[in-house]
Amino acid sequence: MSALILDGSKIGQEIRGEAAAEVKTMAAAGVRPGLAVVLVGHNPASEIYVRGKVKACEEVGIYSEKVTPPESVTTGELLGLVENLNRREEIDGILVQLPLPPQVDSKKVLLAVDPAKDVDGFHPMNVGFLSTQRPGLVPCTPAGVIEILKRSGIPIAGKEAVVVGRSDIVGKPAAMLLLNANATVTVCHSKTHDLPGVCRRADILVAAIGRAGMITPEFVKPGATVIDVGMNTLTDPAEFQRFFAGNAKREETFRKKGSTLIGDVHPEVAEVAGAMTPVPGGVGPLTIAMLMFNTIKAAKMRRGNSVPELSRA
Ligand code: NAP
Repeated sequence: MSALILDGSKIGQEIRGEAAAEVKTMAAAGVRPGLAVVLVGHNPASEIYVRGKVKACEEVGIYSEKVTPPESVTTGELLGLVENLNRREEIDGILVQLPLPPQVDSKKVLLAVDPAKDVDGFHPMNVGFLSTQRPGLVPCTPAGVIEILKRSGIPIAGKEAVVVGRSDIVGKPAAMLLLNANATVTVCHSKTHDLPGVCRRADILVAAIGRAGMITPEFVKPGATVIDVGMNTLTDPAEFQRFFAGNAKREETFRKKGSTLIGDVHPEVAEVAGAMTPVPGGVGPLTIAMLMFNTIKAAKMRRGNSVPELSRA
């Protein structure tokens, strides 16, 4: 048996299409959602992410603005900058690209973002709204996980869900969203005993660890749905062979680029799982799509308009 591959690129495109239609409707009413992205210094990975976000805004019709303070910026200067964005009426969403340089107090900066404009959903007020099931802004990657499940017709209510990883940005909000969707949820971490045994209970297994290919077939109940949030870069040829020997397409990319992206789930899991997300092309594309959705949601909520549920499931 080979798992059904859940196509995140297609689902992400679908959501961006819906976002573009919504932006058109809003434009007719004289509103254009706006997103400000704060990008400090020249971190190459952050620059790539931000480029993707700005491009998505252009495609969907959202106004976007890049604010680029230097690497030497202080906490005080960043706070002033965020305050300014908080005050500006045409800015609906503020995203501070992480990581920030070591001299900056990241928590203080994230706390300064107006919760109504917090399109990353990291502000404690939005965390509280999520856990008490009140309307608010939900972190993009975990929200994308739920969209993949719902739009792929995978039932959540009543199912056993296991989330490996308890970070504030992925693991915890993913667990909370699954709980809100009536799954029975277990959250695992580096101190969990018998991790494979706990994971094998899962009908839905979410891997958000940051360790290449750690989830092997022995972690997976036959037929389970496996969502791979992990994004790890492989550069070692021996490691590459361990995971992808015989995969001609991957080998070609690896030869050309000298690296390849791998999730937290071992490719052999496809022989056991009922459905799984690939890396790349799984959860990744959903993150930006959900950012577009969150910016529209923020623009509507700030104007007192109701926001329909995104998923059609
Ligand atoms: P993180 O903050 O480093 O958290 C990793 C979690 O995994 C921690 O809770 C840690 O447990 C747990 N963990 C680490 N080693 C483990 C082990 N051997 N057994 C069990 N649990 C273990 O990472 P993150 O920010 O949540 O990101 C997780 C992954 O998702 C990364 O690969 C990241 O690149 C990726 N990601 C992807 C997207 C996307 O758009 N697709 C977005 C965000 C993140 P402890 O808490 O006990 O340390």
